[in-house]
Parts: sequence; structure tokens; C-alpha cells
Amino acid sequence: MRIWLDGSLRNAEDARVSVFDHGLTVGDGVFETVKADHGRAFALTRHLERLATSARGLGLPAPDLDEVRRGCEAVLDANPMPLGRLRITYTGGESPLGSDRGDAGPTLVVALSATTRRPDTTAAVTVPWTRNERGALAGLKTTSYGENVVALARAREQDATEALFANTVGALCEGTGSNVFVVLDGELHTPPLASGCLAGITRALTVSWAGAKETDLPLDVLERAEEIFLTSTLRDVQAVTRIDGRQLSDGPGPVTAAAMRIFDEQSAADIDPR
Ligand code: PLP
Repeated sequence: MRIWLDGSLRNAEDARVSVFDHGLTVGDGVFETVKADHGRAFALTRHLERLATSARGLGLPAPDLDEVRRGCEAVLDANPMPLGRLRITYTGGESPLGSDRGDAGPTLVVALSATTRRPDTTAAVTVPWTRNERGALAGLKTTSYGENVVALARAREQDATEALFANTVGALCEGTGSNVFVVLDGELHTPPLASGCLAGITRALTVSWAGAKETDLPLDVLERAEEIFLTSTLRDVQAVTRIDGRQLSDGPGPVTAAAMRIFDEQSAADIDPR
């Protein structure tokens, strides 16, 4: 496996990042996960823009997006595979223990792993922990994913693949690695960005391609939703057919199935949608 580290391609086993990297010691980093179909990255421009937004939010120096793009393309060319998952990680860089971020400059890593298409349906659970929509990291894609790791473990214990959070005022927010959509009285809704959710790229495309209202929703809307689905780079549009043990259906409902179809068609036609 060839990866990109700070300006050049290297063998993954030879690439070294300092054990004092601020991303490792305090989670001072941002990242992106990008899907690549036969070496072609999907929505790369949007991912690069979000990387820059997250970096700005964390106070990191602005990433050189031309270099990040070059790194992604070099890694994709060096490791051909049918369906890949690019991981861009950009951190505060090497910094003496116990100190603030040092002067050594940020670390950039672009790596790739093979992946497979996710199933069309899954199960999800709600968790008792909240997303802080007023927190400093709200809406940023930082490497501080500990809360998501804990919540996802709770989901796995219940044979589910996603855990859904409310925010501090009890409104539906998002999953550990996905945005959430619900169908109520036949209409498609998703929480607004003000709920504290990540500005998911699949979410934005689904809102515009499938048409969805951005609505403040209480968490318990999940108890009466006719359909629920998740969106993310690796899931695309994925139906939730069981929520907190309640079986909604055996397969994607009609609104979800339409959203899946539109997403597949549009994303096949436009690899880098604006
Ligand atoms: N919310 C969180 C917390 C995420 O980590 C992700 C993706 O990783 C998403 C939502 C979905 O975003 P996207 O569609 O850009 O993958």
C-alpha cells in the first residue's frame, strides 16, 4: 500500500508520524473519508472544502488543497481497486508533550483501503448521550471521535450498525458517522445544521436531489416515523428497517427507495457534484 505523507508517496510500512504528533496526543486534527470508484474520487471538491472548514474551525493552518488533491490522486493511481475509501488526515503536527501545538507545521496523511458497498438496510438505536450543538467542535469533522466510538459500541451490542444522538435540547441530530432522514406523513425531513450535525456531503446532495425539508424534530419522532434512512459517504442512502428494536419494514419504504434510486443515478452521472 502506497500512502501520501507530507508531500510524497511512500510505502505505508515505511511512513512514520511522530509519537508526539498533536493529533495523536490530544486529537488536534481533522479528517475526511472519500469514496473512490475505480480510482475516481466522488465529490472530492466538496470534501476538500469541508476539510478546510474543519481546519479553520480548529484553528489549524489552512491546508494546501492542491497538495491534498494531488495526494489523493497519487494514492488512487498507486493502489488500483474497484471500491476504495480514501482517508485524509490533517493534524496539528509534532509538538512537545504538554505544550500547545508546536511550530513544526501540520501533518498530512492520505491513505486508502478497499471497501465494499453497504447493504441497503440496517438497524439503528438511539443512545442517551447528547451532541453539543453549541460546542466548539459542533459541525467540524475532527479526529476527536471518542464519543462516536462509545456510541457505536452500544449499537453493536444491540445488533445495530448505527447509534443516533439527540442534541442538548432533545432534538434529533445525527448518527456516529451518518446523517438521518425521517418520513412523517409521507414527507421527507432531516435535522437542520443548527442541530449540531455534521454538514454531510451525502446529506446535502440528498436534500437537493430527493427534496427534503430541514426541520427541528424531537428525538421521539423516531417512534412514529414511517420511514427512516441514513446518509453517509460509505452508506450512500441506507434504509433503517429496525430502530430501537421496532421493526419498521422488511426493506426500504417507498420514499427511501426513491431517494436511493435518485442518489445512485445522479452520483453515477456526476462524480464531483457541486
Ligand atoms: N455525521 C458524522 C458525525 C460523520 O462522521 C459523517 C461521515 O463520516 C456524516 C455525518 C456523514 O457525512 P458524509 O455524507 O459527508 O460522509
